[in-house]
Amino acid sequence: MKQLRNTVIRAGLGALYFSGAYFLLRPIFSGVGAVFMLHHVRPGRDGDFQPNRHLEVTPDFLRTTLTHLRSHDIDIVTMDEVHDRLLNRKFARRFAAFTFDDGYRDNRDHALPVMREFGAPFTVFVTSDFAEGCGRLWWVALERTIAKAASIEVTMGGRAVRFDTTTAAGKQAAYDRVHDWLRSLQEHDLAREIGALCAQHGVDLAEICRDLCMSWDELKSFAGDPLVAIGAHTITHCNLAQQSEDMAREELTVSRARIEEELQRQVLHLCYPYGDRNAAGRREFALASSIGYKTGVTTRPGMMFAESAGHLTALPRVSLNGNYQQARVLPVLTSGAATAMWNGFRRVDAA
Ligand SMILES: [Zn+2]
Repeated sequence: MKQLRNTVIRAGLGALYFSGAYFLLRPIFSGVGAVFMLHHVRPGRDGDFQPNRHLEVTPDFLRTTLTHLRSHDIDIVTMDEVHDRLLNRKFARRFAAFTFDDGYRDNRDHALPVMREFGAPFTVFVTSDFAEGCGRLWWVALERTIAKAASIEVTMGGRAVRFDTTTAAGKQAAYDRVHDWLRSLQEHDLAREIGALCAQHGVDLAEICRDLCMSWDELKSFAGDPLVAIGAHTITHCNLAQQSEDMAREELTVSRARIEEELQRQVLHLCYPYGDRNAAGRREFALASSIGYKTGVTTRPGMMFAESAGHLTALPRVSLNGNYQQARVLPVLTSGAATAMWNGFRRVDAA
């Protein structure tokens, strides 16, 4: 299904590009700016089985994107500036902000050098357990488990299901199925199931976390760079909408307090884990603003419009997705046509 969806999206982006339709849609849907969403930035890897490839772009593609924005005279700004421009209706120039989720070390090693070439500021949303070295990056753990296993077995809905994972296609099919199942579980069930899979196949969850994420010490010097701002991304990277209100509030306040204590700087911006409508909705948007976050970004696709000022803790983003790293998708993305198509041509989606 995922492959099919990717193909449809890619064909959609291509159709928009080749028909020139994005150019016609531009005056209506380009909005006033955009917040780009990224995760990993690192050189591409070989291998057929890369189910999380959508979460990574190469340094070259990041450079291509920044070059494109600069050539269109778009300001690259901080999230503070996004907040200010929306609130005070400063729309004389179009703007773009860059945000990186989770706190990966490659943001320092591969993204920062490219951002420096352009003097471009960016925000990294840190999950405090990830910086602590005890986070659960279960989607990576699942990838590594399936990569090394010839078969895996899980108990879905009380029934043991066995997946043959000898071929790349088998691995991808197993990953899609098990990933979607894990996403549907409550947090403690998810922890138990991925823990059991890791134990069976000799995958170390904590080691994955330390391998991929910056520690507090690393974040301290990273955050000292004038181009870098740090935002919050909860304590455990849980689905907030599944939590009780008290737990959700704790995830939002304690993570912020941890970052502020470790890095000695104020945290004003939030990113919702998973960030789709199943993980962040009205209750979470209201919580974030009552707790004092200036902005909250989701993974809902969309551009910024003047009306976004009324939904500062429910901002959409434009994904720089590793599956679509071609220069020709950039004018489509920045025209807003792609996200408009996705949203059924509604401008603001914050319910
Ligand atoms: Zn995340």
